[in-house]
Amino acid sequence: MSDIIQLLPDHVANQIAAGEVVQRPASVVKELLENAIDANASEIKLILKEAGKTLVQVIDNGKGMSVTDARLSFERHATSKIRSAEDLFQLNTKGFRGEALASIAAIAHVELKTKQENDELGTQLVIEGSDVKSQEVTVTPKGTSVAVKNLFFNIPARRNFLKSNTVELRHVSDEFHRVALAHPNIAFSMFHNGSELFSLPTSNYRQRVVNIFGSKTNEKLVPVEEATEVLTVSGFVGKPEFSKKTKSEQFFFVNHRFVKSPYLNHAINSAFEGLLKDSYHPSYFLNLTVDPKTIDINIHPTKTEIKFDDEHTLYAILRSSVKHSLGQFNIAPVLDFQSDTNLDTPYNYKNKEGRTPTIEVDRSFNPFGNNQAHKSTEKGSYGQNFSKTPEANWESLYVGLESKSNSNLIDFKEVNFETEAKTSSIFKPETEAQIKTIYQLRQKYVVSIIKSGMLIIDQNRAHQRILYESLLKQLTSKEATTQQLLFPLVLNFSNSDLQIIKQLQSDLEFAGFQFSKDSNEKISIIGIPVGVPESEVSIVLEQLISDVENDVPDQNFSPSDLLAKSLAKSLAIKTGQSLNEEEQEHIVNRLFACKEPSVSPTNKTTFITLGIDDIEKKFM
Ligand code: ADP
Ligand code: MG
Repeated sequence: MSDIIQLLPDHVANQIAAGEVVQRPASVVKELLENAIDANASEIKLILKEAGKTLVQVIDNGKGMSVTDARLSFERHATSKIRSAEDLFQLNTKGFRGEALASIAAIAHVELKTKQENDELGTQLVIEGSDVKSQEVTVTPKGTSVAVKNLFFNIPARRNFLKSNTVELRHVSDEFHRVALAHPNIAFSMFHNGSELFSLPTSNYRQRVVNIFGSKTNEKLVPVEEATEVLTVSGFVGKPEFSKKTKSEQFFFVNHRFVKSPYLNHAINSAFEGLLKDSYHPSYFLNLTVDPKTIDINIHPTKTEIKFDDEHTLYAILRSSVKHSLGQFNIAPVLDFQSDTNLDTPYNYKNKEGRTPTIEVDRSFNPFGNNQAHKSTEKGSYGQNFSKTPEANWESLYVGLESKSNSNLIDFKEVNFETEAKTSSIFKPETEAQIKTIYQLRQKYVVSIIKSGMLIIDQNRAHQRILYESLLKQLTSKEATTQQLLFPLVLNFSNSDLQIIKQLQSDLEFAGFQFSKDSNEKISIIGIPVGVPESEVSIVLEQLISDVENDVPDQNFSPSDLLAKSLAKSLAIKTGQSLNEEEQEHIVNRLFACKEPSVSPTNKTTFITLGIDDIEKKFM
């Protein structure tokens, strides 16, 4: 048989390699920004069109390239940064694989202009899909400009795979933030479709964090400083009360390179133990400096994963330095060996006023009386204290709708009557209406006895379904009721978050939000949907932003559906919340008035039934 193996032509090999390095416009941004930093630029400008899909351009004032280097830089494995394998363990540059420019040129139209300081003229190079179209002498300032146009022009499948501009721009901003945070001594700016989104002058680290995440961030930051032989830590953690529902403010930089490290993240979480509410994440902006010999960055093409020689030690140092800072700034209880630790007040209680204990006696309680009397104790202050949101609060979501019995509005009273009529026959045992037929299990499930057995309902998912359907109706009928705020609520957002809010503004208005003018990094809210507590607004919007960033598949992207899902998720009764009997019944009734009661908005089972037969089988 004849031989069948061939070497792939370079442009094919480059295209394949490009798949590893370039997934989306943000990957191009990362590579070009890193090259500019490696070229010792002090000022770097990023210019984008259509979230980078049609243009990503990076202009730097770095050292530039000679004519020959300009041409060579687009060859695969062409790099000025390492010469031998040993150099891999002495890395002081971002790049070293010599693949980025070759990969990018394989899948886009690239225009390079570059000039070194002492040269009169610079070089201009045009490459399309690895083909050099032209190389000319040009007049250009010192430094390098790389413009990458029409990404994936020759790989339609990949182009189609890109997400909406909102999502892609979000990825780009994330990369930009990571690089800019790692280098506060370099000035950065970012432009999108002609408008400036970020302008970050050279500054210290704190100012850089604040310039990116908004002026409000300043008061959140607690400095962390620690120098040991193996590791230097510097930077900030966020005060626990400013922790977020999303992980969007978590940054580790190792030797000025952004890295993802679940292991080190765990170290921080454990330092925050006991200070955070459930499902909240601490913010951190931490720079770790280690001997380059003790790390291996070579394990992932995008270089965001990194292997440390001695992870355990780093973990311990990081954890204790964060703990120490939180303690020093009076944020966590500190161990003081002089005083009796038994007398220490837990953090949560520190700022609370003392309260004289009261004894509440239910005078109507008669242990020998009927069930009725017993019930009344259950509903007394005990139950109320433990339910985070009093019933009136979440029920009021419907209040606006009910009071407005305007003809083109869905009349919830009517819906309600219908189901109540229906449900009463299912849920009430025929004989004694007095017997308790509804229970809460583990503050997570509502268990309801029905004729044929029992229903077990997941309270959180069920409430999400209920809220989702009602919100969706509001959004499509465009007649939500708004509660006017006495004082406008001014919220700070980073620029890219603000873009997302602006895109959803009209839908948010249909849901009941009202905005007044907004300025840089601030929005001012003058009305919010009935039923949304004012204190929850920023959490609701934050959740929404992170949902837009993360969860949106591009096809069938409907802003109102997304908004309804996201708001339902934020506002629904959570697992762990005690519900009184009325609230439990409410959930059951509302759920079965829904169009699709059996699944949550994210398609998870809301309830199961356990039939008498099933139960009987278990006793056989
Ligand atoms: P790497 O960064 O891994 O070396 P790249 O493909 O990103 O590989 O770049 C190849 C080479 O081109 C770099 O090693 C550097 O010498 C040169 N280069 C790329 N971008 C710039 C720039 N903005 N300024 C100066 N030189 C650059
Ligand atoms: Mg590079």
